Amino acid sequence: MPFAKVETQVDFPALERAILDIWQKENTFERLVQRNADGNRWSFLDGPITANNPMGVHHAWGRTYKDAFQRHHAMKGHKLRYQNGFDCQGLWVEVEVEKELGLKSKKDIENLVPGDPFASIDQFVNLCKARVDKFARVQTDQSVRLGYWMDWDKPEDWDKPADDRRSYFTMSQTNNYAIWGFLKKCNDRGLVYRAHDCMPFCPRCSVGLSQMEMSEGYQMVAHRSVFFKLPIKSKPSEFLLAWTTTPWTLTSNVAAAVNPELTYLKILHREETYYVAKGAFTVARLEQQFKDKEWLEGVPKLKSLEQMFKEKGGFEITAELKGADLVGWTYEGPFDHLEAQSSQGGYPDDIARVALNRDWTDSIPANQAHKVIAWREVGETEGTGIVHIAPGCGREDLGLGRENRLPPVAPLDEFGCFLQGFGELSGKSAIDPTVPDIVFAHLEKNGKLFAWEKYPHKYPHCWRCKTEVLFRMVDGWYISMSWREEIMRVCDDVRWIPEFGRQRELDWLKNMGDWMISKKRYWGLALPVWVDEESGDFEVIGSREELKARAVEGWADFDGHTPHRPWVDLIKIRNPRTGNLMTRISDVGNPWLDAGVVPFSTMGYYKDKADWEKWFPADLITECFPGQFRNWFYALLAMGTMLEAKAPFKTLLGHALVRDQTGDEMHKSKGNSIPFEGAADNGYEIKGKNGKMEKHPPMGADLVRWMFCRQNPSQNINFGPQIAEDVRARFLLKLWNTYAFLCNYARLDGFDPAAPQVPLARRTDLDRWIISDLQKLVRQAEHAFTNYDIAPFCLEVERFVDDKLSNWYVRRNRRRFWKAGAGEDKTAAYQTLHTAISVVCRLVAPIIPFITDHMYRNLHDQGADSSVHLAMWPFADEGMEDAALSEEMEALLRLV
Ligand SMILES: [Zn+2]
Repeated sequence: MPFAKVETQVDFPALERAILDIWQKENTFERLVQRNADGNRWSFLDGPITANNPMGVHHAWGRTYKDAFQRHHAMKGHKLRYQNGFDCQGLWVEVEVEKELGLKSKKDIENLVPGDPFASIDQFVNLCKARVDKFARVQTDQSVRLGYWMDWDKPEDWDKPADDRRSYFTMSQTNNYAIWGFLKKCNDRGLVYRAHDCMPFCPRCSVGLSQMEMSEGYQMVAHRSVFFKLPIKSKPSEFLLAWTTTPWTLTSNVAAAVNPELTYLKILHREETYYVAKGAFTVARLEQQFKDKEWLEGVPKLKSLEQMFKEKGGFEITAELKGADLVGWTYEGPFDHLEAQSSQGGYPDDIARVALNRDWTDSIPANQAHKVIAWREVGETEGTGIVHIAPGCGREDLGLGRENRLPPVAPLDEFGCFLQGFGELSGKSAIDPTVPDIVFAHLEKNGKLFAWEKYPHKYPHCWRCKTEVLFRMVDGWYISMSWREEIMRVCDDVRWIPEFGRQRELDWLKNMGDWMISKKRYWGLALPVWVDEESGDFEVIGSREELKARAVEGWADFDGHTPHRPWVDLIKIRNPRTGNLMTRISDVGNPWLDAGVVPFSTMGYYKDKADWEKWFPADLITECFPGQFRNWFYALLAMGTMLEAKAPFKTLLGHALVRDQTGDEMHKSKGNSIPFEGAADNGYEIKGKNGKMEKHPPMGADLVRWMFCRQNPSQNINFGPQIAEDVRARFLLKLWNTYAFLCNYARLDGFDPAAPQVPLARRTDLDRWIISDLQKLVRQAEHAFTNYDIAPFCLEVERFVDDKLSNWYVRRNRRRFWKAGAGEDKTAAYQTLHTAISVVCRLVAPIIPFITDHMYRNLHDQGADSSVHLAMWPFADEGMEDAALSEEMEALLRLV
């Protein structure tokens, strides 16, 4: 029987947990899947969540959208895939495992099993897998609590290999081998290449950082910058005055660049002659930044060069000349005594070999190559207009070095420490704070130090571990982006919400460099590149089968393992051209390859292409957009273009970020972050206005979900207790109280919802009005869900429930429910209110699945099939709409 008594005091989180139990007991989700087994397909593709930590309340935004759109399509009878994804591989997992084990660097990882790097890497990789499994389980439980319906893994599934589970895992063999297929296709088109480049580099993680990663980690820091003197050969007592913010690179100076177009001054100062750019001499350095207080405490205002010369005893300008006149002068470098500066063709030997083999330089040592070169990029708004060039320490420097045939000196090892050959700096980390002291002392001793100062600037840091980035010569593997226009073309296949997404994606595609896909790490996609080091030949292997056919060594040991390090490293193939054995490069892949291939790997492209075609391209993907235009969205589009010349999704719904209720970024350390469990069930503490931690009650999952869905997705949401209370009072409680009113009277009167309906024509104006407006709401709901634009609909539902149903319809009709006895008018009132609440329940069930299911069951017969999620989606009945009546009442409502 319907209409159990309804209390007006309600504990929403407890109600939600009870509903979760009912769903489990009655297999509600499985019934729905069963019911829709022959329905038309609606294809949703889940962007994998990083299984590295518990999910936070901010993850609930995207996950609510994912669930809401799936539930809506299921109510319309569609067949869905319901496959959740976990992102598993990459440095972020490694860093957390390193923290757990107290490891400081790659040396520690390779010595986990003392003296046995193979066993050490194996153990480390297994610990990474275990961490992923642990947090994938945590996130599964959290997602279930959110009410997110997916084909979640059951307790027994977690013992199975990743390939055999319900969710997809990017560490699965399927996923890894699918990327091999993609890379092979790229290589067949000649797009895969190896390059030596000066890369931004994290000395702690020992990895090069891609362009995408670099843009995520800028911080304001003060470095010690230095003005130093370069004695000009054959001009006694004459100096080029140069400047740098990275004193450690002076060891590797090879050239000095001037702008040939600029005017330079010849300055007499204490019987010595200096050359600097005219504009640089007087410019007020970082003045605007100082005024705008984009500064750091303890850093004094910078002095102009002119001021420095004055304070050091005055100066006289004796001549002006063009930068072009300086080009070709030779000079004495700051560290010419170092072994590294005396090595033919550059330093260390392997870099010199690359430089000489590729004809980047002549066979001379750096300390005999120092000269002034021309570079039109040299400016005079900072420094001296004479730029110190170290081709082994910077990307632009390397390019200039090649243009001018200069030998590169690359000072750092993979931990950011100076190699042998750098005197007292050898073995020291380039970010060690004593390094500038050593450099300055050396310059001072040799009469080459002019001045140093603290210099504030935004400097890149590792996005993962926050260590200061260095620049280092590394060899890496790249996919050439010469085919970017093909990807740009498929952007037109996609509907972008918000619309500016298309332009952002195109901007990225237009400007991005080649895609660096390698990292010298352990836990990740084993790049399927085998090289013949002697000839430099390499091959890309496209599948497990191909590898097995080509393996001449190591297959027996590898067989039975996932294609991860260290086992896959055992396999050797033969170079058909030279007969040499080829070895896999030890690099692992970029994790965006892992996530980008999922429309192929997880949807069965390599297993059952006919079935895959039924699901591809996905109807919808939805993710938080900041960052993803250069990450997941980009990887999806690139891989879709390469494999099928198609975008792998039709609509992209992006949403902005979750902030605290005052609009600040949420951080644990700031005391303003809200854990998911706190919001759902346990309550949470955040810092109040007085700076003290204040305890707040839980919101429950429905309220969290509703708050996200009523927000304009293109703007950040301010999320917190005040807003939650406001929305709860304005909407959830109003809906609940109206429902309680209906149930409690219907129960007394023995109202039977299955009784024949009183014809609309015999109902009152108020009845016909609310039914008419309900049809409008139904139409709006359909439009909102099919256009992925549900925020305006949510606000209209709030208005319908609060202004129309609760404050007007019920209030003006109370007497009809109160009066004694039965009769057609009373039945009409019950039927009207029952219809209104039932239909509203169905319309918002995709968004607030708990409270609506609880109510809907009580409005109907409470059996296992009376779940609102097994009800069909309502469609508007035009015959029930009365435009004139709706308009008239709208006018009246505006008056009161
Ligand atoms: Zn790092």
